[in-house]
Amino acid sequence: MCLFCEIINGNIPSAKVYEDDMILAFKDINPVAPVHILVTPKEHIACVNDITAENSKFVSHIFEKIPEIAKSQGIESYRVINNCGEDAGQTVMHLHFHIIGGVEMGEKIL
Ligand code: AMP
Ligand code: ZN
Repeated sequence: MCLFCEIINGNIPSAKVYEDDMILAFKDINPVAPVHILVTPKEHIACVNDITAENSKFVSHIFEKIPEIAKSQGIESYRVINNCGEDAGQTVMHLHFHIIGGVEMGEKIL
C-alpha cells in the first residue's frame, strides 16, 4: 500500500489539519514555507494523468475545501502545486496538492 494510503488509513501518523469522508489534509513533513499542507483524496489516484470522469469528484472537492483549509492555517494567499510524474518531481505516487504560503513568493513559478 502506498505511503499516503497508509497515512489515510491511520497506519502511519500525520499532523492532520482537515478530514472528511473524501479527503485528508495534513502538514508536509519537510515544509518549504511556514505553511505547507498536503491535500489528498482518500481514494488512491496515482497522479493527474489518472483523473477520470468517475473520480474527478475528489479533485473538485479538494478545490472546494482548499480555501477553508488555507484559512484554518491563517492564510488567504497561497500557491497550490501539483507535481505529476518523475520529471516534475513527484515522489509519492498518490495524487496530492501542496498548499504553500505564509511567505512572499513573488510571481516566478520556477
Ligand atoms: P511530491 O514531491 O509532490 O510527490 O511531494 C511529496 C511530499 O510528501 C514531499 O513534500 C514530502 O516532504 C512529503 N512527505 C513525504 N512523507 C511524508 C509523511 N510521512 N508525512 C507528511 N509528508 C510527507
Ligand atoms: Zn495511495
